[in-house]
Amino acid sequence: MLYFCPMNNNNIDEAAQIIKKGGLVAFPTETVYGLGANALNPMAVAKIFELKERPSFDPLIIHIASYDDLKALSTEVNEKIMALAKHFWPGPLTIVMPKSSIVPEIVTSGLDTVGIRMPNNPIALELITKAGCPIAAPSANKFGQLSPVNAHHVKKQLPDVDYILDGGNTSVGIESTIVSIDGDICHLLRPGFITIDDIEKALPDTFVFDIAKPEKLVSPGLLKSHYSPKKPLYILNDSIRRLPANSGLILHGRNNQLYSAEKIIYTSETHDKIEITAHLFDSLHKMEEDESVKNIFIEPVEEKGLGIAIMDRVKKAAYQYNNSSL
Ligand code: AMP
Ligand code: MG
Repeated sequence: MLYFCPMNNNNIDEAAQIIKKGGLVAFPTETVYGLGANALNPMAVAKIFELKERPSFDPLIIHIASYDDLKALSTEVNEKIMALAKHFWPGPLTIVMPKSSIVPEIVTSGLDTVGIRMPNNPIALELITKAGCPIAAPSANKFGQLSPVNAHHVKKQLPDVDYILDGGNTSVGIESTIVSIDGDICHLLRPGFITIDDIEKALPDTFVFDIAKPEKLVSPGLLKSHYSPKKPLYILNDSIRRLPANSGLILHGRNNQLYSAEKIIYTSETHDKIEITAHLFDSLHKMEEDESVKNIFIEPVEEKGLGIAIMDRVKKAAYQYNNSSL
């Protein structure tokens, strides 16, 4: 395994060479770390599914660094898609659109659409540019487990990856918002850092927003259980009076004095939703790694604005334990 210091261009060169040769590189984006391969090389993309143990029905997002790539990857970059891209890219918005024939089936799991985004991270953009190809990348973790927000989290879950670019902690901390455009309607396929309000403000007259209620699985980000730690995770509620021994407690502000626990992690001092988002996965990783912690409890946040994406991840991480009693 190779490591390098973030701002060393030679090492981005080295990582780009690995992508060119069909290898896998874990790299930072502003959301979470991605596990990248040349999106146009089906054999390289197959290695992502193998290393992640990701089911083949779960399509990958393609990361680009230029609008030329966008036009090459899709047959229909219409005005609405362009307006969304221009407003939010580089940034944590993935847009699902009709795919062109150069996109291998394995990337889209056989769908005729492809999810594309331009990440807002200089290392990611330079890697894509130097590799000379768009990069398909899901989160750099084993399927269903916690998303990685630093290089240590990647190494823990994917020790056999060819190369890890270490860019420190990611700034946003949860996965991108995913949308698709259907005529005048923009469907939210996965909530993320960019909220419905943000999108409505950016394009006030053009779109109606709606959380998609797909009959078929259009986005595995909609799976009920995902992003899970390897220990029971419970969401605090009024019926929980006190916590069992060896509990880890994740709180979002200093004002919650109701519970005592072996270990407490604060994602924010003041219930600031941007801070909570940035520290959410890291707090779960820390609880997962702490041997003194047997059960993890987490405070919920109000499901408004960015709180919708935070609670989406929390509920999926806690899904197996949400309805069971202690
Ligand atoms: P991950 O990067 O592991 O968080 O997963 C990428 C997410 O993007 C998954 O939930 C995919 O289902 C979603 N996605 C990628 N491509 C498409 C597509 N063509 N249609 C719908 N969802 C997609
Ligand atoms: Mg993921």
